Amino acid sequence: MVCVVGHKNPDTDSICSAIVMAYFLDATPGRQGELNPETKYVLEKFGVPEPKYVDSAKGRELVLVDHADPSQTFSDLDKGELVCIIDHHKNGITTSKPILHISKPLGSTATVIAEFYFNNGMHLLGAKNKELTPQMAGLLLAAILSDTVVFRSPTTTEVDKEMAEKLAKIAGIDDIEAFGKELLKAKSVVAKKPAAEMLTTDYKEFDMNGRKVGIGQVEVVDFSDVEPKVDELLRVMKEKQEKEGYELIVFAITDVLNKGSKVLVVGNREAFEKAFNTKLDEKGTTYLEGVMSRKKQLVPPLEEYFKKV
Ligand code: MG
Ligand code: MG
Ligand code: MG
Repeated sequence: MVCVVGHKNPDTDSICSAIVMAYFLDATPGRQGELNPETKYVLEKFGVPEPKYVDSAKGRELVLVDHADPSQTFSDLDKGELVCIIDHHKNGITTSKPILHISKPLGSTATVIAEFYFNNGMHLLGAKNKELTPQMAGLLLAAILSDTVVFRSPTTTEVDKEMAEKLAKIAGIDDIEAFGKELLKAKSVVAKKPAAEMLTTDYKEFDMNGRKVGIGQVEVVDFSDVEPKVDELLRVMKEKQEKEGYELIVFAITDVLNKGSKVLVVGNREAFEKAFNTKLDEKGTTYLEGVMSRKKQLVPPLEEYFKKV
C-alpha cells in the first residue's frame, strides 16, 4: 500500500496535501509528527480523520508531499521505495532510480495539486479519475491559505489566488478572507503555548554545507502574546542548540498584519549578522522588516553564507 506523507513537524499543507493525494491515489495518508492546532481545526471543520503516525520508511512505497529535504523526512528513507514527490520547495533528495518529481514555485503544495486537478492532469500524477469532493476541496483551500498566510506572504502567486477561488466554490466557502481569519485565529493558539512547544511546532532542520541549522517560526496576529516569552524562548533555543549540536538556531516571530518578523538567534550569531547584513542586540534578537517566509527569505541568505565559509 502506498503511503502519502508530508514533512516532520507537519503543517496544514503537509497534512491536507497528503490526505487529498491519498484520496486520489487510493493510498493511505500518513503524518510524521503531531498536528498543530490550526491543522486540527481544519480537519475537524471538514470532518476528516487524522492521518496515521508513520515513523519509518521501511517496507513502504512512499509519495512525499510538501518537502524534498532529507533533514525533514524519515531518517531511513533509503529503506523504503520512494515513488513520487509533489512539492513547492527546492530539491535536496537524490534517488538511485528515476522517480516522478513535481515541484513548482507556488505558494503551497495544495496549489500544485489543485492546478493539476483543474487542468485535468491528475492522471499525470498517477491518480485515479475522481471528483474533488467539497471536503477535499476545503482541505486544499485551507492549505493554500495557511502556507500563504492568507495571501500575505511574499511566496503568494496569482495561481494560489486563482486555485483558492475555484476550491472555495466546490467547498461551499463564500468568504475566503473570513475563512482565512478563522485559520489565523486557530494558528495563533501556538503563541500561548510554553516556549519549548512553540519552538518546535513549526520547525525545520537544514544541512547547510555540513552545518546543522534549525529554523522555527510562529505566526501571530498579536505580538504581545509572545513578547513576554522571548527570554524563555532564547533559553530553550540555547539548550537545544548545545544538546543537539546545531551551528545555529533561528526563531522567527512573524507579525502577519505588519508583515515583518522579530528574529531570535542562538549559536553562530556572526553568521546570521553577516548573512542578513544586520546587527543583533545583546540578547540575540532583531526585527526584519518585510520578512515572512522561511523558504524564500530566511533560508537562502543563510545557505549563501555557509557556502562561502
Ligand atoms: Mg510545509
Ligand atoms: Mg507547503
Ligand atoms: Mg509555513
